[in-house]
Amino acid sequence: MTSLAEPISRLGTESAFDVLSRARALEAQGKDIVHLEIGEPDFDTPRHVIEAGQQALGAGFTHYGPTPGLPDLRGAIADYVSTTRGIPVDLHNVVVTPGGKPIIFFPMMALLGPGDEAIYPNPGFPIYESMIRYQGAKPVPIPLVEERGFSFDLDVFRASLTDKTKMVVLNSPQNPTGGIIPKEDIIAIADAVRDRNLVILSDEIYSRIYYEGDAPFSIASLPGMAEKTIILDGFSKTYAMTGWRLGYGVMPEYLAIAVGRLMVNSTSCTATFTQKAGIAALQGPQDDVDKMVAEFRRRRNAFCAALNDIPGWRCVLPGGAFYAFANVKAMGKSSKEIADGLLNEAGVACLDGGGFGEYGKGYVRFSYANSYENLMKAAERIKTWAAKSENR
Ligand code: PLP
Repeated sequence: MTSLAEPISRLGTESAFDVLSRARALEAQGKDIVHLEIGEPDFDTPRHVIEAGQQALGAGFTHYGPTPGLPDLRGAIADYVSTTRGIPVDLHNVVVTPGGKPIIFFPMMALLGPGDEAIYPNPGFPIYESMIRYQGAKPVPIPLVEERGFSFDLDVFRASLTDKTKMVVLNSPQNPTGGIIPKEDIIAIADAVRDRNLVILSDEIYSRIYYEGDAPFSIASLPGMAEKTIILDGFSKTYAMTGWRLGYGVMPEYLAIAVGRLMVNSTSCTATFTQKAGIAALQGPQDDVDKMVAEFRRRRNAFCAALNDIPGWRCVLPGGAFYAFANVKAMGKSSKEIADGLLNEAGVACLDGGGFGEYGKGYVRFSYANSYENLMKAAERIKTWAAKSENR
């Protein structure tokens, strides 16, 4: 076996896929498992979007397309982001990618190297730290504070900025906590970085999944910030299109050109029939999105109430995304032991918060992208298991 290149040893992974395969192995042995580990909507892609994809296949959208995306989709995205974030966006600022994830991978490749520092939320989506390390840059985690609805500790954030800070990653609504960074915190973050030579990667993949008040606020909307911000967004979560692999980044043109160059060297382009479906998603009726969010709200309220009913457990009501991040520190066991126990002994697949970084330890993440009935079944099992484990 040939040795792997050294940077590969620095790449991390996503524990959700690992837990999913362990849960499937238990099912193969005849165990009944409620799946609350994977972060994908359990809804179908809206009918009119599927039909647009099918029509595109029939109409010959089965060939290579332009590397940064079909001009009509890039135009539709530019209009959508311009309207929702209140900023001018041109087609040349938009790069369409196979899912939103490449808008972490490519910009980090384009911007980070040894000697650079990158600030990112912890607990947070594991790919941020993985890619920062892969590039040989220094990861600088900012702890999220449960008492602040899992927003940043702003003092720690300001103190973490140095002349080497090349990138700041924001994610709101957030994975794994469901937290939303309040507008006043976004303003404070922008004020701290406005005069610095760095780039903000604002991961807004859950931008449409929020439960109260105004839409989550984008840092790109503030004066002077669009020039230094990459917005990551896409279709996976909003339109239940995880398997179509369709996402995008909106960024200053010099970065769009660099990301395009990385696309030429890797994927060539995003599947063209998928992009046609994306146009239908953005420009067609939005009722399916509204219905999905309403159902997520109903599940969130009931499931979090059930978790808060368990003695010693505490779950802040998440403002967005579809994750409940329960504080289980009072159980006197590690969150890894708790997540493993829930899977193996209670038949509930969930994730150890420690898989999202050091500061996620002591928490367990449940995805409520599962039916109301299954969530209630899981809540019962968790409650019974927690009561039994207390006595052991
Ligand atoms: N960013 C965050 C915070 C996510 O949770 C995910 C998916 O789980 C992504 C990005 C990637 O989304 P996609 O499936 O579109 O690549």
